[in-house]
Amino acid sequence: MTDICVIGGGPAGVFACFFAAKDNKKVTLIERNDDVLKKLLLTGNGKCNYSNSDLKSEYYNFGKDHPYSKIIEEFDSEKLEEFFMDRGMPTYGKNNCKYPRSERAETVKNVLSEMLSEKKVEVLTGKKVTSAEYRPGKKIDENATNKPINEKDLPHFILKFEDGGKIECKKLIIATGGKAYPSTGSDGGGYRLARALGHNVTFTYPVLTRLFTEDKAVKEMAGVRFKAKVTAVVEGEIISSEEGELQFTENGLSGICIYNLSRYLSKPLEDGLNCNVVVDFMPEMAKESMDYYIEKQIQKNNDWRNLLVNIFGEKTASLIYKKIVSEANGAAGKDLISHFTNSIKNYKIKISGHDSFSNAQVTKGGVSIDEVDENMASKICPGLFFAGEVLDVDGKCGGYNLHFAFASGRRAGLSAGE
Ligand SMILES: Cc1cc2nc3c(=O)[nH]c(=O)nc-3n(C[C@H](O)[C@H](O)[C@H](O)COP(=O)(O)OP(=O)(O)OC[C@H]3O[C@@H](n4cnc5c(N)ncnc54)[C@H](O)[C@@H]3O)c2cc1C
Repeated sequence: MTDICVIGGGPAGVFACFFAAKDNKKVTLIERNDDVLKKLLLTGNGKCNYSNSDLKSEYYNFGKDHPYSKIIEEFDSEKLEEFFMDRGMPTYGKNNCKYPRSERAETVKNVLSEMLSEKKVEVLTGKKVTSAEYRPGKKIDENATNKPINEKDLPHFILKFEDGGKIECKKLIIATGGKAYPSTGSDGGGYRLARALGHNVTFTYPVLTRLFTEDKAVKEMAGVRFKAKVTAVVEGEIISSEEGELQFTENGLSGICIYNLSRYLSKPLEDGLNCNVVVDFMPEMAKESMDYYIEKQIQKNNDWRNLLVNIFGEKTASLIYKKIVSEANGAAGKDLISHFTNSIKNYKIKISGHDSFSNAQVTKGGVSIDEVDENMASKICPGLFFAGEVLDVDGKCGGYNLHFAFASGRRAGLSAGE
C-alpha cells in the first residue's frame, strides 16, 4: 500500500508530493493527463507569473486574519523565490509580479518535474480517479498484541481509476484544481471525490474572466485600450475598484482590472442582480478640476470633440463623443460641462454576463474552507488533506493563485508526511 497518494499533477499536487516525501515514505502522484502541469504552461501568457511580492491575505477571498494567512506567511513570496533560486531557477519581478528569469513557464515545469524525480515520487499519468472511499480500519484486538497488523485493517483510502484499476493509500491529498479551463484537465471532478469523503462544496463561478455588455456604444469601441479606474456596482452599491488598462472587446470588457472585478460580479450576475462597471477615464483629476479644465478649453475654442481628442486620442474620442452627445438630452452651459465630466469620470456600462469556465482563469467556490484546517487537513475525514484551487480559495490576478497552490501544496505535503 502507498503511504500517500496525491490526486492532481498541478503546482499544488507537485509541491504536496515533494514535501510529503520524507522518511522513506512512498508517495504516488496520480494525474489524468498524459503529463503533469498542463495548466501551468499556459499561465502568465506562457511566462508564468508564479507569485507576487505584495502578498497579503486580503487579496484572497478568505481575507485578513483568517487561519489560512499562516499558509502564505510561512511560505511567502521571498521564500518561494529562494526555493526556486536554490533549485537553479533565477526569477525577476515586474510591478510586484514574479516570473522565472527565462520568462518561460516551461522552466518552472522543468524545476517542478525535477522535484518529483529527486524525491522518487511514483508518477502515474493517464489515470483519472473516478471514486475515492475511506475505510476506517478494523478494531484492533488488544489481547493479540504479537499478531502482525495487516495494513488493510488500518484506516486507508481506496481510489478507483476510469480504466478499471485501483490503488490503496494510508493518506490522501486531493489537489485536482477547480473547473476553470477544463481543457487542461481540471474539470471539477475533484469536487465529486471530496463530496464522497464527506465534504461540502460551495457553489462555483468562473472568475478572472471577461465581462459582457449589450451596450452598442461600448461594443463599437472594440480594440480600444485605455488606462482607467473601474468600479463594480451591484444594485447601486459600490463593491470594488481597480485601476489598470481597460480593454474594450467585441463582447464587452477585458484586462487585468476587469478580471479582478469579475471576482465580485460573477455571482451577482448569476443571481440576476443589476451589475454595472463605472469607468473613470481620468482618475488622476478630481471632478471639480475636470469641470474647470473643460470650461477653460471650451471658452478657448468651443470645440467639444477636440477636447476629447486631447484626452483619448482620435479614434476613441469619436466613439466617446458619439455616446456623450447622444445622452446629452439638450443640456447646455454648466449642465453640458457637468454632463461631459460625468461621462468621462462616471462612464456607466451595464454588464450582461461573464465569460464561461472554458475561458476563465480561476474558479470561485470549491471545497468549503470551514471544513479544512490551516494545516490543510480535513476536519471530517482522518488522513485526508486538500491543496490548491480545489478549495474555495481565489485570489487576485498577478501570481496570487499560483502562490496559494504552491504554499498550500507545501503545507498539505508537510502535514500528510508527518
Ligand atoms: C490561462 C490561464 C492563465 C493563468 N495564469 C496565471 C498566472 O499567471 N498566475 C497565477 O497565479 N495563476 C494563473 N492562473 C491560475 C493558476 O493556473 C491556477 O490557480 C493553478 O494552476 C491551480 O493549481 P492547482 O494545482 O490547484 O490545480 P491545476 O493546475 O488545475 O492542476 C490540477 C491537476 O489535477 C488533475 N486532475 C483533475 N481531476 C483529476 C482526477 N479526477 N484524476 C486525476 N487527475 C485529476 C488535472 O488534470 C490537473 O493537472 C492561470 C490560469 C489559466 C487557466
